[in-house]
Amino acid sequence: MSVWDDVVGQPDAVAVLRRAATDPAAMTHAWLLTGPPGSGRSVAARAFAAALQCTGSDGETGGCGRCRACTTTLAGTHPDLTVVATDKVVITIDEVRDLIMTASRTPSSGRYRVIVVEDADRMAERTTNVLLKAIEEPPPHTVWVLCAPSAQDVLPTIRSRCRGVVLRVPPAQDVADLLVRRDGIDPAVALTAARAAQSHVGLARRLARDADARERRDAVLEIARRIRGVGDAVLAAGELVDVAKAEAVAATAERDAVEKAELMRALGVQEGDTLPPRLRSQLKQLEDDQKRRATRRQRDVLDRSMVDLLSLYRDVLVVQLGAAVDLVNAEHDGAVRALAADSTPEQTIRRMDAIGVARERLEGNVAPLLALEAMTVALRPQG
Ligand SMILES: [Zn+2]
Repeated sequence: MSVWDDVVGQPDAVAVLRRAATDPAAMTHAWLLTGPPGSGRSVAARAFAAALQCTGSDGETGGCGRCRACTTTLAGTHPDLTVVATDKVVITIDEVRDLIMTASRTPSSGRYRVIVVEDADRMAERTTNVLLKAIEEPPPHTVWVLCAPSAQDVLPTIRSRCRGVVLRVPPAQDVADLLVRRDGIDPAVALTAARAAQSHVGLARRLARDADARERRDAVLEIARRIRGVGDAVLAAGELVDVAKAEAVAATAERDAVEKAELMRALGVQEGDTLPPRLRSQLKQLEDDQKRRATRRQRDVLDRSMVDLLSLYRDVLVVQLGAAVDLVNAEHDGAVRALAADSTPEQTIRRMDAIGVARERLEGNVAPLLALEAMTVALRPQG
């Protein structure tokens, strides 16, 4: 067992990181881990942090997975580890200033002070420039590990000062093996889930364990066959947006309430009291953050729905072209074949383009319903 066990399907990246953790000559103080969503960027970053802190057991160092430094780092409780995991849209300049303060302190017990920023791409240029200075001249025991979907998502100035490590999309079988080994999931279920999630580890686990998540995905895929005319298309778009909204609320409501209660307690306000005017701005700030988080979540859910639809049309194209590769949605074989028989490869490609355009619009802050209606209308049978 080692801290690298959960970094699935990334032998090249693991080799580089493992070497850096054990050989001072291969060590650098600023890293940029890139890879598509679900490739395991944050898992790899944590494993690397653990390997850096590892004090060894049974003569094994560099991430033995058993010593206290390894286990506390993986659990996120090591005193010399700071992880910035943002589910908000942006990392603020104040957050980065706090991080730089933390980074300047010498480690309290570990070998290094490790700062992991999981979404380094969610920073405005001004914020990035503040960070840049800290990365350029880090104290000798500080290691920055920045993560982003691709190197192009961070400013060139940051990129050029970091050592890059690229993660790839892991093979579905590797992801399935992990689910079997770590979560005790049935091998066949694990493989279906890994394929359906297109090797996105977190999503594959959710699909394998949560029947509701599987149902929601099935409902999204069924939309492709249900749309016969413009009326169905508009209804389907509304449905997709509503489901995403409901899921975002469900995922954030509980945490929002806890955060609000904590803030009120910190401000010394009893439950049921009216908030004095001078404290209202603090509550407003929190509520604004929570609203942004819910928006982000809703957009992420919608984007995931579109990726699922895209995978279905990809399967349709595979069948139409007679390509000898596995279907992502093997359990929707019937729907895939019906759509394939009902359209031409050119039409399938146009539909995939329409989904791609909708994803871009959503990322560019177009109102979700508008972006989705244009997409679903383009999915209807063209005769
Ligand atoms: Zn260890």
